[in-house]
This record gives sequence, structure tokens and C-alpha cells, in this order.
Amino acid sequence: MSVARFWRETLRRYNLGASKCPECQTVFFPPRSVCPQCTVHRKSMTKMEPCQLSGKGEIFSYTTVYEAADGFEMQVPYVLALVKMAEGPVLTGQVVDVDPKEVHEGMPVKATFRKLREDGDSGVIHYGYKFAIVRSPTASK
Ligand SMILES: [Zn+2]
Repeated sequence: MSVARFWRETLRRYNLGASKCPECQTVFFPPRSVCPQCTVHRKSMTKMEPCQLSGKGEIFSYTTVYEAADGFEMQVPYVLALVKMAEGPVLTGQVVDVDPKEVHEGMPVKATFRKLREDGDSGVIHYGYKFAIVRSPTASK
């Protein structure tokens, strides 16, 4: 794969492309070609519309991970959260740049793109989304 192609693919992934059902307005991430909810109600022929997630959401649930997974050189402990996006879908991702003790449910977060890991043999760097805490400018520390 050429560098340009690789970069385009990467950018596409960065955009959090989702799909929205025009019938029931449900947003799916990753995008789906049919709406499972409307399929049940036999309205599956409606066309899904591509849309973008804003990247904004809030922590719905989280867990603190103390052991790094194989192939992931992450600093432990780190926080893995279920994030309910503003548009509805729930995404799983690591919460970065935060003390695990500071994290609580309902915290506003924003998707950010970080290096996930580097492939030692090929030198390919893998990127993916993670979540950063949205800190209120008025909050004092
Ligand atoms: Zn639907």
C-alpha cells in the first residue's frame, strides 16, 4: 500500500464515520448497511445515510486496567471506558492523560487519535481513537 493510500485510509478512520437510519434516526458506529431495528419491523429497504460522529461523549462506565495486553505498550494502570457518544453509539476506548482515581461516570470526553502501537518488523505505526477528558475551564485543581 502506498503511503498516500495508507494516509487516506488513516484519515478516514480518524473521522469516526458512522451511519444513520433515516427511519428511526439511530446512529451506528461502525457504520452498518442496514438498520437491525428496522429490519425487525420490515422497513429494511430504507437507505442508511453516512454521518460523522462529533467525537464528543461522556463516560458511561469504566474499568481500570493494571496489566498491559500483549503487543500494547501502554502504561499501566490505564482507564478503559465505555463512552456514550453525543449521537448515541457507545464506543470502547482508553482514556488518556488522566489519573485513574480522577475518572468518574458522566465525565465529558472527546475522541482523540493516538498511536496505538508500532509494529517492530515492518515499522508500521497503528493509530486509533482514544478519549481525552474535557476539562471545564472554570474547574480548579
Ligand atoms: Zn432504523
